[in-house]
Amino acid sequence: TEAERAQPGEILMASPRGFCAGVDRAIEIVERALRKFGAPIYVRHEIVHNTYVVNDLKQKGAIFIEDLAEVPPGATLVFSAHGVPKAVEHEAAVRGFQVFDATCPLVSKVHVEVAKLAREGYEFLMIGHKGHPEVEGTMGQLSDGIFLVEDAADVAHAPVTRPDKLAVVTQTTLSVDDAADILAAVKARFPLVREPKKQDICYATQNRQDAVKVLAPKVDVVIVVGSPTSSNSNRLRELAARLGTPAYMVDSATDLQPEWLDGRPRVGLTAGASAPDVLVQAVIARLKALGSVSVRSLPGVEETIEFPLPKGLGDKSMAEA
Ligand code: SF4
Repeated sequence: TEAERAQPGEILMASPRGFCAGVDRAIEIVERALRKFGAPIYVRHEIVHNTYVVNDLKQKGAIFIEDLAEVPPGATLVFSAHGVPKAVEHEAAVRGFQVFDATCPLVSKVHVEVAKLAREGYEFLMIGHKGHPEVEGTMGQLSDGIFLVEDAADVAHAPVTRPDKLAVVTQTTLSVDDAADILAAVKARFPLVREPKKQDICYATQNRQDAVKVLAPKVDVVIVVGSPTSSNSNRLRELAARLGTPAYMVDSATDLQPEWLDGRPRVGLTAGASAPDVLVQAVIARLKALGSVSVRSLPGVEETIEFPLPKGLGDKSMAEA
């Protein structure tokens, strides 16, 4: 109802928003490795898909690479939160790097499930976005027998040879609704398919999408703080737009275009799981400069999940004062 909508001039914030436990941990791993071993620390792929975070770590001495060929002997290497294919893990071991694995434990869980079912003779459909590093990492747990489906149409072409021994896994940061549609198409063609016990889409993705569903109908425009490469941030923008609210994604406050706010006095704000709060605060400051007068956070589920740091980086003495 109208009463539940934001007031004109009000910035309404989705809850939860911003950093998830996996992103928090991944950044902490690079920070701690820098403090313990000194610069440079090599990081395979952007540690998390956020421009500000990556630039900040670069300034502190992290070097981001895509190919292990760029890493010198004896280096310390961090794998990004998205995870890596088995071949990369193997290459790092063979070349003797000191490795800290910042793969989100919720992605590692999918890797473990794939390896286990593969040993039992399963083939796999992976629901995800082609080219995303998490998809490459999960599919790269096996040398064959895992097929990517990006949409319901792909299901018809998947070269499955054992429909009675088929399992489905997904990227953790998909649209919950799209994934459900694709899964329905999978089940229609492969009625015996085995689904994950608990869906692979992670709690943070689910919660941030649920929060946008609450937010979008209350406002005239939704701003999502996130980088263009961030899957979960893109999904938040897309979801708000699907719900009929114009929605834009900004990598920083300077991306915000004043005309987006023309005739739209109620602004909704959220942030992807890789977007730091300092960017959200900067966006709020800019919205206020452009006429917003107040900020209110919607109620939402409280997230208490935390992941332990890898051995060798977790000691308390290393915590920043
Ligand atoms: Fe882990 Fe989910 Fe965060 Fe990705 S979005 S790092 S899977 S908690």
